[in-house]
Amino acid sequence: MITEIKGLHHVTSMASDARQNNRFFSDTLGLRRVKQTVNFDDPSIYHLYYGDENGSAGTVMTYFPFKNMMLGRPGVGEVGETQFSVPKGALTFWQDRFTAEGIGGLESDTSFGASRLRFTGPDGDSLALVESAEDARAPWLADGIPSDAAIRGFAGARFNLHDTAATEELLGFMGYQRAGKEGEVTRFIMPDGNGADTIDVASLPTTPFARQGAGSVHHIAFAVENREKQLDVRKALMDTGYQVTPVIDRDYFWAIYFRTPGGILFEIATNEPGFNRDEDTAHLGEVLKLPSRYEEFRDQIQANLEPLAA
Ligand code: ZN
Repeated sequence: MITEIKGLHHVTSMASDARQNNRFFSDTLGLRRVKQTVNFDDPSIYHLYYGDENGSAGTVMTYFPFKNMMLGRPGVGEVGETQFSVPKGALTFWQDRFTAEGIGGLESDTSFGASRLRFTGPDGDSLALVESAEDARAPWLADGIPSDAAIRGFAGARFNLHDTAATEELLGFMGYQRAGKEGEVTRFIMPDGNGADTIDVASLPTTPFARQGAGSVHHIAFAVENREKQLDVRKALMDTGYQVTPVIDRDYFWAIYFRTPGGILFEIATNEPGFNRDEDTAHLGEVLKLPSRYEEFRDQIQANLEPLAA
């Protein structure tokens, strides 16, 4: 069994409009935009990162905004809900804030004993806030959001799957422990994780497969401390029969990817070097940073990108 994984690292989704995406995650949810850069394979597309002050592993929601991309169709074979952690009692604040801003999909319930508020992002993204009394992570404090309500980072994510057995086995191999069942959902928890520690696996044998588009999660990344541990994890996965990519330099972390039996793309990402490798923590995300191979085309790239603020 793998012991190096410590919970989630980041979740990467797709959007149809960069400015709207930036406004929603920075202003409405009050996350810190810790990086604005471009897609490594297509510098005409932003890659936007939102998280806590430093962009700590387990807090970072990232987006590729493809202008006018068609909306995805939710279904199985994908991450069906991305969950953020807020303090106990905070959902009243968020319910009022979301209602005032006309946020869609508002639905309150209880999930595994915790109060949850489900809502949708600008492209119908399935998101939720989950109350936790034990989350000690320090929040980023944005305008208009009190510290006793601010998001602490991810709580976890839910996978919607046609057939859950192989994915459940994989999660166990990755160090997750089965922690209960509610209806069609089985909960897994990472012991001694980074706070973004739960994975809920929903068994939906009659639901059609998802079609990826704006509002869909593209992949979900799990955290390891450093490159050495990442190589250990890569070897363990390959020894078990997974096809894993070579290590790829993503400037702010090192990444490996593999497709899971249920259809979801997993990434294992390192906590090093982090988002302050090319700008001061005090000024993260304020200016466009480019992968070094695109730096000579900066003027052209920048002219093509819509400014994030009007
Ligand atoms: Zn990623």
